[in-house]
Amino acid sequence: MSFAALPTDLSPRPSAATIQALVAGLDPVLGDRITTAAGIREQHGHDESWHHPAAPDAVCFPHSTEEVSAVVRACATHRVPVIPYGVGTSIEGQVIADRGGLCVDLSQMNTVIEVRPEDMDVTVQPGVTRTQLNTHLRATGLFFSVDPGADASMGGMASTRASGTNTVRYGTIRENVLSMTVVMPDGRIVETGTRARKSAAGYDLTHLMIGAEGTLGIITELNVKLHGLPEAISSATVAFDDVAGAIDAVIASIQYGIPMARIELMDTLAMRAVNAFSRLDYAEKPTLFLEFHGTHAGVKEQAESMAELCQEFGGSDFAWATKEEDRQTLWQARHDAAYAAKALRPGMEFLATDICVPISKLAECIEATQHDVTESGLIAPLLGHVGDGNFHLVVAVDRHSEQELDTLAAFNQRLIERALAVGGTCTGEHGIGTGKRAYMEAEHGEGWAVMRAIKTALDPLGIMNPGKLV
Ligand SMILES: Cc1cc2nc3c(=O)[nH]c(=O)nc-3n(C[C@H](O)[C@H](O)[C@H](O)COP(=O)(O)OP(=O)(O)OC[C@H]3O[C@@H](n4cnc5c(N)ncnc54)[C@H](O)[C@@H]3O)c2cc1C
Repeated sequence: MSFAALPTDLSPRPSAATIQALVAGLDPVLGDRITTAAGIREQHGHDESWHHPAAPDAVCFPHSTEEVSAVVRACATHRVPVIPYGVGTSIEGQVIADRGGLCVDLSQMNTVIEVRPEDMDVTVQPGVTRTQLNTHLRATGLFFSVDPGADASMGGMASTRASGTNTVRYGTIRENVLSMTVVMPDGRIVETGTRARKSAAGYDLTHLMIGAEGTLGIITELNVKLHGLPEAISSATVAFDDVAGAIDAVIASIQYGIPMARIELMDTLAMRAVNAFSRLDYAEKPTLFLEFHGTHAGVKEQAESMAELCQEFGGSDFAWATKEEDRQTLWQARHDAAYAAKALRPGMEFLATDICVPISKLAECIEATQHDVTESGLIAPLLGHVGDGNFHLVVAVDRHSEQELDTLAAFNQRLIERALAVGGTCTGEHGIGTGKRAYMEAEHGEGWAVMRAIKTALDPLGIMNPGKLV
C-alpha cells in the first residue's frame, strides 16, 4: 500500500450556512469563545505529524462540562463533525479536520480541581498538562507519572492511551486513570466509574474511552492516580557492541526483578545524531539509558546489580549519576533525540512511527528493522522504550519525491507486518488517527468489526472525530 492509497472515504464538509447556523446558535453559550477566524482554524488543523493539515470550519473554547454538552448537542442537531483538541501534539493525524467541523479546544478547561494526598489521587479538567499538574503537586511529595515527552494534556493523553519513558515502572495512562466524566455524542454527561482503586461493577467504560481518540465522546474531567516521589533517583548510561546485547541485558534485568523506572535504547545512528546535535561525546554504539527510583541504598544496589548484568552481556562505559544536574545532562541526549534525528537531514519531513512487541521478540524485530532500513536506503534513527518492547523510528523523507514516499510506505508496512507476525501491535503509544487506520483489520480481525459496532451504537450520526481510528 502506498501513502497516497490510504482510505479517503470522506463525507462532504458541512456547508457554510450550516456552520453559520451552528455558530449563531452557540453564541448565547460561548460568546466570543467560538470563532471562524482563519488563523485560529489553521492553528487547529494540524498536529505534530507529517500528515496533511486540514482546518476545521470553526473552533470553540468551552469552560465547563455543561458547555461541552451544549456544544455537542448543537453539533448533533446540525450534523457537524466534532474534533476534540488538547494541545495538538499527537503524531498520527488525530486532530486533523479532514471533514471540516467544529474543533472543541479543551485547553481553557485547565483547573486542578482537587488533590487528595491520603488517596493518592487528583481530579483535573482535561486541559491540564502533565507539567502543569506536576508543578501544582510540587509541595505534596506526589507526582503524576505518565510522560510522553511532549507537554500533552490529560484529555489528549487519555484519548491516545499515551505512555512514555516511565511506563516500565508506573504504567501507561491506562493504568493511571481511575474514572472520567465524558460528554457522549448525543450530549449526555456520563461518569465512567468511581475513584475506587478497583471495581467489578459492569462494563469498563473508563477503559473504553481511553484510546478512543475523541471518536466516542469528549472527556471533561479525570480522576487519576498519583505516586510518591522517590527518596533517591539515579541514572546511568551503558553502551553495547550490538543491539542484541542491550536487549538481552534488559530481559535479564526484568527476569531478575531489578525495579527500573526507565529503560531507553538509542541505536548507533541515534547516538551519532545526538552527539552532533547536542555537542556530546557518547560512544556511537547502541546505548541504554537507565533510571532507578527508591531509597538511597536501594538505588545504589539496583545500579550496581544492573552494571554487573550489563557487563555479562557486553555492556561497557557504564556511567551513572545521582545529582540532579548530572542526571539532567545524562538524559539530555534522550530528550534531544527527536530533534537530533531531524537535524540529520535538514529541510525534510519526518515520519515518526512506533510498534510494540513481546519483549522476547524485541531483539530480532529491531535487528530485522535495522537491516530493512539499510536495504531501503532510509535514514531512520531508532529509539525505544525497550522495557515495554516498544520502539520508534524517525524517518526522514522528501515529500516531493514519489519514489521516497513509496519506499517509506513499503518500509512502514513491513515494519508493522513484522510486529504483528510476532504477536505485537502496530502502535504502542502514538495511536491510530488516520496514519495507522489501514492496519486495524490486520491487527484486530473481527475485533475491529466489534469496535465499529461500538462506534455506531454510541455515535449513530458519526459526528465524533470522523475518519479517525474506525
Ligand atoms: C516530540 C514528541 C514526542 C512524543 N513522544 C510520545 C511518547 O513517548 N509517548 C506517547 O504516548 N506519545 C508521544 N507523543 C505523542 C503525543 O504527545 C501524545 O499522543 C499525546 O497524548 C497527545 O496529547 P495532546 O494533548 O497533544 O492531544 P491532541 O493531539 O490534542 O489530541 C489527541 C487525540 O485525543 C483527542 N482528544 C484530545 N482531548 C480530548 C478530550 N478531552 N476528550 C476526548 N478526546 C480528546 C483528539 O481528538 C485526538 O484524537 C509525542 C509527540 C511529540 C511531538
